[in-house]
Amino acid sequence: MARYTDAVCRLCRREGQKLFLKGDRCYTDKCAADRRPYPPGQHGQGRAKTSEYGLQLREKQKARRYYGILENQFRNYYNLAIKRKGKTGEVLLALLETRLDNAVYRLGFAMSRAEARQLVQHGHFLVNGKKVNIPSFLLKPGMIVSIKEKSRSLDKIKGVIEANASRQPPKWLEYDANALIAKVVATPLREDIDIPIEEQLIVELYSK
Ligand code: SF4
Repeated sequence: MARYTDAVCRLCRREGQKLFLKGDRCYTDKCAADRRPYPPGQHGQGRAKTSEYGLQLREKQKARRYYGILENQFRNYYNLAIKRKGKTGEVLLALLETRLDNAVYRLGFAMSRAEARQLVQHGHFLVNGKKVNIPSFLLKPGMIVSIKEKSRSLDKIKGVIEANASRQPPKWLEYDANALIAKVVATPLREDIDIPIEEQLIVELYSK
């Protein structure tokens, strides 16, 4: 599967915003977006004002990068969103949010979405008791996410869960921290998704 392999901190600097792509490091003073708060590259500090199209494009890139999704796949989510009821931008974010890798990250089982994706691919998680190793698997209300029994004792997973013990899962996931099980209790609402994206700009971009 194709994926982005360049230095991810460049993405945050390009978007002018911390996207929290590197786990622990994002919360330290080594964060490149804090240390060099301007776009990367030779002309990074001298860029002109952005056009309307540029703003829409940046918002789409930002959303894509938050969730670690390539262009074609992102477009597919948009195409799915326009077929569903509700505001397209909000439906789009709800779809992205209910990806299994995102839920794993939100539950504090991984330090970043990239790490969550890898853990899912390695088969550490179950949905309704069955192994699912597809990061883009879309969760629906009523589904149960849990960690595979054997994986619970892995030092890496135990360490991450301990480090993230204070992380509050979103309202659409009901989490039992003792059993390490979460139930999807609703479709995420916009106010449940704490990423600073103006989704309407993405809709305007794709509607052209
Ligand atoms: Fe972005 Fe994290 Fe790198 Fe900072 S450390 S620039 S938040 S990926």
